This record gives sequence, structure tokens and C-alpha cells, in this order.
Amino acid sequence: MSDKDKPQKNTEETTPNPTFDYDAIVIGTGPGGEGAAMGLAKTGKSVAVVERHSAVGGGCTHWGTIPSKALRQSVSQLIHFNTNPLFSESGREKHFTFPQILKHAEGVIRQQTRLRAGFYDRNRVQLIKGEASFVDKHTLCITYPDGSTQNITAQTIVIATGSRPYRPTDVDFTSGRVYDSDTILSLKHDPRSIIIYGAGLLVLNMPVFSEGWASKLT
Ligand SMILES: Cc1cc2nc3c(=O)[nH]c(=O)nc-3n(C[C@H](O)[C@H](O)[C@H](O)COP(=O)(O)OP(=O)(O)OC[C@H]3O[C@@H](n4cnc5c(N)ncnc54)[C@H](O)[C@@H]3O)c2cc1C
Repeated sequence: MSDKDKPQKNTEETTPNPTFDYDAIVIGTGPGGEGAAMGLAKTGKSVAVVERHSAVGGGCTHWGTIPSKALRQSVSQLIHFNTNPLFSESGREKHFTFPQILKHAEGVIRQQTRLRAGFYDRNRVQLIKGEASFVDKHTLCITYPDGSTQNITAQTIVIATGSRPYRPTDVDFTSGRVYDSDTILSLKHDPRSIIIYGAGLLVLNMPVFSEGWASKLT
């Protein structure tokens, strides 16, 4: 990465406190990070966000809420089409594979990403693409996608890095047939039957499989 692509040290106009590069740095651009960054920017603070994923939006936009809802919407439209006498008169039911339907979600994700990136631009929040790790309580080391690193500092650092699903040690996630809530939407085939382990809120997204692909859910 060339130096001009890396975050520039703040100017006087945006940095009241000359000791640090920013008043605040937020790690993560999911709903938590976005809310924190916008809130801080609106109080006149100089703010940067660091995101290691290729685009802003967090799990919500890329592997959680948005894709699961886009999937559900596509499946209900398909069911409507296949059961509405107006369309079924032609006698041809439409069937799509899970990956085909999921592809449709990509358009929605792109739209959401553009929208969310615009919020950062409009509020003059600097977006830094890279992985953050702590050097000390005011300093982050950013590792850029090309492997280069840079330290940046802030008076306040907000951790909004989300969570990851619990993986019980007695479940083999390497078998290729076991998914967690972050990876289930990357399925490459139509599942005929699914066993769900756990009964948290995210299970509510699972009926889409039985509705769309007649999968047996246990
Ligand atoms: C399948 C599924 C369906 C869901 N459906 C719903 C729903 O219907 N309604 C609902 O309210 N919620 C739903 N959720 C949950 C929702 O997605 C999360 O609650 C929400 O995304 C949490 O937001 P967050 O900002 O805390 O974290 P995240 O959205 O996870 O964002 C964290 C961000 O931090 C980044 N990050 C992490 N570490 C670093 C680092 N060191 N450096 C730089 N960046 C880093 C990550 O790349 C990520 O972009 C669903 C989740 C899943 C998996």
C-alpha cells in the first residue's frame, strides 16, 4: 500500500487534541460500530473507523440479518409464484437452488454497503481498511490487506468487533457438513435435512430451508 492510501495524520481543523491522530477510533463497522462512529462524529469529534472485512456493514450486512432476510423474501416470492393460479396455469413451477437464490442477496448487500459507506463519507469519518490490534490503550496497529502495518492513535478507542458463534468442542466443524450461524448462508448445496443444535434467536431464520427446499428440520 502506498503512503498516500494510508490514513493521513489529522489536520488542525479536525483535531482539537494534537497529542493523538484522532479523538476517537472505532474498530468494526457493524451496527454497533456505525452507531458509535456517527454519534461521535455528530458531536464534532475527529473519528476514524477500522474494518478488516472488504466492505463496511459488519455481520449484519454481509453474513447475518440482511442476507437472511433477502433469502426469506426471495423464497416467499417463489412460493407465491408457484402457488398462485394466475402463474401456475402455464403449468411450469420454478425451482432454484439455494446458491442461486442466495446470489440474489448479493445485490441487496451491495446496495446496503453503498448506503452505509455514504454515511461515513457524509459525516467525515475516515474509513481505514485493515485489521486493528492494540499496542497500548491509545494506540492501534493496523495491518493492511497487503501485510504492511501502521500505528495510529486516539484519545478514545471503541471496540465494536461483534461476536462469534460458540463452537462446542465435541462438534467437528471440519467435516464439511457442520455449519454455524455465521457460515450457514455459505451453503453450496440444497440441504435435504438439517439438525439444529441450540435454540437461540437465530434459529428463527431456519424455517426458510423447509419452506424453500422442503428440507426436514430437527
Ligand atoms: C444468520 C444471521 C441472522 C441474523 N438475523 C438477525 C435479525 O434478523 N435481526 C437482528 O437484529 N440481528 C440478526 N442477526 C445478528 C446481527 O447480525 C448482529 O447482532 C449484529 O451484526 C451485531 O452487530 P455488531 O456491530 O456488534 O457486530 P458485527 O456486525 O459482527 O460487526 C463487527 C465488525 O467488526 C469487524 N472486526 C472484527 N474484528 C476486527 C478487527 N480486529 N479489526 C477490524 N475490524 C474488525 C468485523 O469484520 C465486522 O465487520 C443475525 C445474525 C446472523 C449470523
